[in-house]
Amino acid sequence: MSDPVVAIVGRPNVGKSTIFNRIAGERISIVEDTPGVTRDRIYAHSEWLGQRFSLIDTGGIDIGDEPFVTQIQEQAEIAIDEADVIILIVSIKEGITDADEKVARILYQTDKPVIVAVNKVDNPEMRAEIYDFYSLGLGDPLPISGSHGIGLGDLLEKVCHYFPQKTVESDSETINFSFIGRPNVGKSSLVNAILGENRVIVSNIEGTTRDAIDTPFETDNGEQFTVIDTAGIRKRGKVYENTEKYSVLRALRAIDRSDVVLVVLDAATGIREQDKKVAGYAHEAGRGIIIVVNKWDAVKKDSYTMTEFEKMIRQEFQYLDYAPIIFVSATTKQRLNQLSKLIKRVSENQQRRIKSAVLNDVLMDAIARNPTPTENGKRLKVYYGTQVAIKPPTFVIFVNDPELVHFSYERYLRNQFRESFDFQGTPLHLIARKRK
Ligand code: GDP
Ligand code: GDP
Repeated sequence: MSDPVVAIVGRPNVGKSTIFNRIAGERISIVEDTPGVTRDRIYAHSEWLGQRFSLIDTGGIDIGDEPFVTQIQEQAEIAIDEADVIILIVSIKEGITDADEKVARILYQTDKPVIVAVNKVDNPEMRAEIYDFYSLGLGDPLPISGSHGIGLGDLLEKVCHYFPQKTVESDSETINFSFIGRPNVGKSSLVNAILGENRVIVSNIEGTTRDAIDTPFETDNGEQFTVIDTAGIRKRGKVYENTEKYSVLRALRAIDRSDVVLVVLDAATGIREQDKKVAGYAHEAGRGIIIVVNKWDAVKKDSYTMTEFEKMIRQEFQYLDYAPIIFVSATTKQRLNQLSKLIKRVSENQQRRIKSAVLNDVLMDAIARNPTPTENGKRLKVYYGTQVAIKPPTFVIFVNDPELVHFSYERYLRNQFRESFDFQGTPLHLIARKRK
C-alpha cells in the first residue's frame, strides 16, 4: 500500500509553500514575496514520528490562464481528488477573505478530513484572533507560523490522526506497474490493449477511493499484475487534467505506487524534452524501468530501423542504460504479449539478493582486474561489500576513504555487478562507507 497523501490548499500568499518546505524538511520550492510565484516542486515525501506520507502543494499547480479564483477552486478539487487529508491554510494577517470562503465552499463537498490552519500567528498574543476562523465552517482552526515553525507539530499530529488505517496488504503476489509518458504517446491505448488480452480480475474488496481505478489482471499462465492508473488513462474531462504540473503530479504518484514503471515513447514523433523529464522521475525513484517504444506500426520501414532508434534512446537517456527497450504497437498488438514476461523479470531483478560471499568474489575479481585509483599518493582500498536493501538493490562497500571512490570507479564496480548478476531494468545503488 502506498503512503497517505496530504494536500495543502489556500489562496495565494497565505504561506503554503513556506509550510510545504518546512514539512518536507528541505528548501525544495521557491518562496518569494510575490504572490503566485512559480514553484519548482509541488510534491515531496515526508515523515512525522515514523509515519510516512506524501505532501502536495496545490498552490504550485497553475492552471493555464484562468483567473486566480478559478485556479484556487481547481486546486481545491485536485486536493479532493488526490489527498487523504487536506490542510486549508488561511492567514491571520488578512482574516477571512472572499477567496478563503470560495475554497471552503468547495471543500464542503468532500467527506475527506479538512484541517484549517491559521498561518502567520507569529506570537502568542495573536492566538485570540483565530476564533474568527470558526466561521469557515470547517472545524477548529489551528494557529501556526510557517516561517517561525510554530504549531507545525500539532498540525501534523492532527493530520496523522486522520490517516486511513492500513488495511491488509493487497495481494503480495501481484506486480504493480504503470505506463508513464507525455500526453498522446498511447498510454491508455496500451492499457486497454493489455487488459483486452488478459483476464481482468473483478475485485470484491471494498475499494479505497483513490486506488479503485487500478486494474488487477491475470495472464494465461497465472501471473498476476495490477496496472496503476496514471494521467491520460482515465480521462474524466476536468480542466486541470491537461495542465503539465498535474500530469507530472499524477506520474509521480503512479511511480510511487509501482514496482515497475514503463516509460512510453512515441515512435511516430520521436523523443521530446518532456520524455526525458518523465523518465528522470522514474530513475530517481529507484523503480524498475522498461522503455516502451509505442506506435512502431506507424514508422515507415525506410525512415529508421530499430537499431537506429535504440541508439538514439541510449544517447538521449544515458542514465537509463540498464532499462530494456521494447518496440510495440497498441494498435496492431505487436510484441504486447512479451510485455508481461519482461515486467516480471524486471520486478524479480529489483528484488534480487546476492549473498555476501558471492558478492565479494565478484568485487575482489573486479579489483584484481582493474586496480583501485589513487589520489595524492593515497590508494583506495576496498575491504568488502554487502547488499543492504532491495527495490532497488543497494550495496554498501567498506573502504579506507569514501572520498577516493570516484564516479568512474563506482560505475566500473556497478557494471561488474551487472555483468555477474541479472539486474536488467533496475538501478543499482552503491554506497561507500569508511571501515571503522
Ligand atoms: P503561498 O503563495 O501561499 O505559497 O505563500 P508563500 O509561502 O509564498 O508565503 C507568502 C509570504 O508570506 C512570504 O513573504 C512568506 O515569507 C510569508 N510568510 C509565510 N509564512 C509566514 C508566517 O508564519 N509568518 C509571517 N509573518 N509571514 C509568513
Ligand atoms: P495517452 O494520452 O498517452 O493515453 O495516449 P492515447 O492512448 O490516448 O493515444 C493517443 C493517440 O495515439 C490516439 O489517437 C491513439 O489511437 C493513437 N495510438 C495509440 N497507440 C498507437 C499505436 O500503437 N499505433 C498508432 N498508429 N497509433 C496509436
